[in-house]
Amino acid sequence: MKKLRIGLVGLGKIARDQHLPALAADPDFDLVAIASRNATLDDVANFPTIEAMLDSDVALDAVSLCTPPRGRFDQARRAIEAGLHVMMEKPPAATVSEAVALAELAQAKGVVLFATWHSREAAGVEPARAWLVGRRIDAVRITWREDIRRWHPGQDWILEAGGFGVFDPGINALSIATRILPDPWHVDAATITVPAGRQGPLKATLGLSAGAVPVSAEFDFLQTGPQTWDIEIDTDAGTLVLSMGGSILCLPGEPPREAKDAEYPSLYRRFAELVATGKSDVDLRPLQLVADAFLIADRTTGDAFEW
Ligand code: NAP
Repeated sequence: MKKLRIGLVGLGKIARDQHLPALAADPDFDLVAIASRNATLDDVANFPTIEAMLDSDVALDAVSLCTPPRGRFDQARRAIEAGLHVMMEKPPAATVSEAVALAELAQAKGVVLFATWHSREAAGVEPARAWLVGRRIDAVRITWREDIRRWHPGQDWILEAGGFGVFDPGINALSIATRILPDPWHVDAATITVPAGRQGPLKATLGLSAGAVPVSAEFDFLQTGPQTWDIEIDTDAGTLVLSMGGSILCLPGEPPREAKDAEYPSLYRRFAELVATGKSDVDLRPLQLVADAFLIADRTTGDAFEW
């Protein structure tokens, strides 16, 4: 297959930590351009904006959007209108209606849109899904506690409106849960705590339903020390535990199974396959659940937050 010439937009933390190494190791992609206002990369064409990149004479087949969710709609729209395939970081957009509009636009233009959920590529997720088939599921507990200062240093956008606050990591848990647990999903109750002077919550609790299964979720952005990204699933055959963001799977009576992290290489493999088959992949359930939590949440103002 001819290599896909790809441009990356938003050269920040996740682009450098994960996208650049994954692209460098993938034989199906050729990273030819970067669009970032304040950062550049050696040996590729650099542009301050996606508009400048799309208006240039650099030929592209696809773009990968690694910017924050608010503002991504316009970037994706421009790329789709330019006839490019688009891969988007999670959360796919700042609102559900933006994401739906992008999916419709991509279909109308005949290009592939891939709304990625990197946590679904964690090693334990598909084996957990397979193990749960045919088992009775009684209850689910999600505990997602991480340190905003460690994983998102100085990222003020995450606590601005449209930045998702603690739902930025929490949506990863929901992306796994919606992949492995039954439909239909809905949010029954939510509380959020927003620090004084900011817009995004640092803490949230949710009561959800997955089919008839009660699911509780606790998201906390102020956890220092050991970090917790666990999903516990009570079944008629014992409790399944996915820990460390889905990378470790503990099945009842078995030793923990752990595999090497390959989330982002898997995402780019899948993007190449989607382009080859002309299929989009846009599952908006995790985004819809977060939006619904914001709609019905009891909101408390917490202590001011400084980095
Ligand atoms: P980041 O370090 O802030 O990088 C995002 C980059 O996008 C910035 O460096 C900035 O580069 C560009 N940008 C464009 N418009 C922006 C705006 N209005 N505000 C701020 N930056 C803007 O953020 P990140 O951690 O890489 O996160 C980006 C996306 O990846 C988010 O959707 C996040 O959920 C997702 N993600 C993050 C992680 C993680 O561990 N951090 C993990 C998985 C997924 P220029 O200033 O050069 O334009």
